[in-house]
Amino acid sequence: MSILYNKVTAVIELANIVHNYQVLSAASGSGAPIAVIKADAYGHGLSQVAQVLAGAGAETFAVGTVEEAVALRGTGHAHRVIALLGPVEDAEYAALWSAGVIPFLHTFEQLDRLAQLEKAQDEVLPVALKFDTGMRRLGFTLADVPALAERLKAMKNVRLDMVSSHLATADEPEAFSYVAAQAEEFAAIRRELAALGLAHTANIANSAAILGHPDLHLDQQRAGIALYGGNPFHGTEREALGRDLKPAMSVKTKILSVHGLRAGQSVSYGCTYTAPEDKTVAIVAAGYADAYSRSLSGKAQMCLKGRRVPVLGRVCMQMCAVDVTGMEGVRAGDDIWLLGGDGEGRITPEELAAWWGTITYEVFCLLGLNKREFV
Ligand SMILES: *Cc1c(COP(=O)(O)O)cnc(C)c1O
Repeated sequence: MSILYNKVTAVIELANIVHNYQVLSAASGSGAPIAVIKADAYGHGLSQVAQVLAGAGAETFAVGTVEEAVALRGTGHAHRVIALLGPVEDAEYAALWSAGVIPFLHTFEQLDRLAQLEKAQDEVLPVALKFDTGMRRLGFTLADVPALAERLKAMKNVRLDMVSSHLATADEPEAFSYVAAQAEEFAAIRRELAALGLAHTANIANSAAILGHPDLHLDQQRAGIALYGGNPFHGTEREALGRDLKPAMSVKTKILSVHGLRAGQSVSYGCTYTAPEDKTVAIVAAGYADAYSRSLSGKAQMCLKGRRVPVLGRVCMQMCAVDVTGMEGVRAGDDIWLLGGDGEGRITPEELAAWWGTITYEVFCLLGLNKREFV
């Protein structure tokens, strides 16, 4: 996407994503975790991320919609592609065979539609069954297994490939018992499938479980946030588990103006910040239209020439103000970093997420909507 109205650029260091994949591969034991690249690779660029990870040994890739899978195929991607959200619309069902997409399936209605289509196909479609073991979002349950076995056995051009489930609390060290209960339910589902003669591979581990629950690695794992350098255990006693991960997204923009703010003067809408003494402010070309949330008003910091500068007053649509008092040589046209940056002043994704009142996942997805540069 190209945005003409803004100056904000997300800079993606693809080498760091490769580094993180190697860290996760080593942790996973089995070697090649499934690379989760849904939502435009968490804002990092679908095709670019898929390409470098294929080069790093990834064999299976998980996108969100079937449409996203088709788009990835359109870039020449030849590896296994899973659509985590599964088919929703007619065109998406047809695309499963034509584009070679493994769907996550979570309802009997989806199986009905596949049963209607499969007879006309020349090829066998591998599918993944999604089981609910505690997330309570999407998925079949243990009670569904006998009916599932019957339906799958009746189809000629649909074959069970993998079974999956998703953990609700793998990144919370104090919630181990919930993880254990989900794992136990998943094991029961797998035993039932095996007893009914349905061979399959299985995965339940997300990034947090790859790093923190080696007992749940099973046949494959699904690596998401950690690929992009987000530490799932940040702020917990298990934080060291993610210490080797490197953030891959930095976000920069330009300074538009630098001027004085005398003691008693205010800056930006609502006059929420009033200078207690003479200050120098830089007006920065970033605002909520660039996904730099208004909730960062008066809370966030940016990185300028390796130093931290605080945001003063309200974040506007395309601008905000930072305090550059005492800094030499700050000029209109200078780069300033909303995320990342040089040296000690570098802003981590976890810090920005905390000021924002959210998690690194949302920070990456939203800031990744800006134009991107790959380095
Ligand atoms: C997004 C997603 C993942 C990746 O989770 P992370 O916490 O980012 O590692 C794994 N599995 C499913 C089904 C997902 O939707």
